[in-house]
Amino acid sequence: MNASNFLPLTVVRCCCHLQQAGFEAYPVGGCVRDLLLGRVPQDWDVCTSALPHQVQALFPRTIPTGLAYGTVTVVLDGAPIEVTTFRQEAQYHDGRRPDTVRFVSSLEQDLSRRDFTINAMALTLDGQLIDPFRGRDDLQAKQVRCVGDAAQRFHEDRLRMFRAIRFSAQLEFQLESDVSAALFGLGKEPHSLPPERIRPEVEKTLCAPAPHWTSLFFSTGLLLPYVPNLDCAPLCTLSSRPLDRWAGLAALLVQAGANPQPLLHALIPDRKKIIPLERALSLYPQNVPRDDQSWRHLLACHGLPTAQALAAMAQALGDAQPGQRLSQVLAHAPCLSAQDLALSGRDLMAMGLSGPEIGRAQKILLAHVLDCPEDNTPTALRRLVPDHTK
Ligand code: ATP
Ligand code: MG
Repeated sequence: MNASNFLPLTVVRCCCHLQQAGFEAYPVGGCVRDLLLGRVPQDWDVCTSALPHQVQALFPRTIPTGLAYGTVTVVLDGAPIEVTTFRQEAQYHDGRRPDTVRFVSSLEQDLSRRDFTINAMALTLDGQLIDPFRGRDDLQAKQVRCVGDAAQRFHEDRLRMFRAIRFSAQLEFQLESDVSAALFGLGKEPHSLPPERIRPEVEKTLCAPAPHWTSLFFSTGLLLPYVPNLDCAPLCTLSSRPLDRWAGLAALLVQAGANPQPLLHALIPDRKKIIPLERALSLYPQNVPRDDQSWRHLLACHGLPTAQALAAMAQALGDAQPGQRLSQVLAHAPCLSAQDLALSGRDLMAMGLSGPEIGRAQKILLAHVLDCPEDNTPTALRRLVPDHTK
């Protein structure tokens, strides 16, 4: 297969334009890996010998995405292409970002700073693969292997440990033995990665074809900063089928055990979304409804977002039944509040009720209708209004 045949025209045009101006330019990294695997790349990266200001001067529409790191986004026909100058990363002191980057002149030097062999390949426009670290062999062997010494590469940048697990889950690959040893060796060491860098890796792992790889975030100790009393073994096992993001996050929190709050806040920045998850966590697993009636009561008491989070939690942990039940219940558009009752407050007033009697009667009627939804008709409800108030 000639992978370059599958390059989008915009990427080809971007590289040709740089080459015509006298620079080297190659599609590189994740997009080459995905083309070789027959997958659709998420984004397109080009590496080049041109310096960032030279890239900016060559294209009419550019975005200065990360000039200090050599990255300019070139926009061609509305499509973004990340163009990064060949670079090497000097000294890491904090295990999160290189202290400085140094622009270099050779593609091979650039490929050597990349995390995994499968991500350290470039392509020429005529279809030749530039693969100094034998990434194609690792694609065939279905393994994630570091460029260079795994422990050193993880020590430089702790995010690579999260990425190793993420790629195993996405590609259904194994970890090469040095990678696995380095993960378990370094995983428990304190790291200061900010949650916003970890979050996409954790979410991509949860939404991957093999989400059970998520358990390695616990067993290696990588989540220790957010789950301080983690005994390094998840309490329950994630479904081995793909999850949606919400279900995955919900299940991850169940795995975090007794004190999921720090993890909850690290993974979900939006406070509004935290509330239903917190409620669902307090209900799981004892109070997961098993029948329609219990779902209706739970919906009336806690609302739809909590019910959905609870069903998602059960599904992600291998129990699809509660979610199916919830969908069935919702399909019948059940009466879940006083406003949905077939007798309005005005009808009750016309029956002679006043003041707090109305609220009390509505409570009684709603409790009955949650048990027996077929009774939500004016005639049936009239019979249920307590005698002394009729
Ligand atoms: P995805 O399909 O999710 O985009 P990707 O491999 O393309 O995966 P990106 O985050 O887009 O990942 O990064 C592009 C490339 O940059 C990677 O393929 C890899 O070569 C390099 N890279 C990214 N993050 C790191 C890192 N932390 N350390 C070393 N190289 C990295
Ligand atoms: Mg990418």
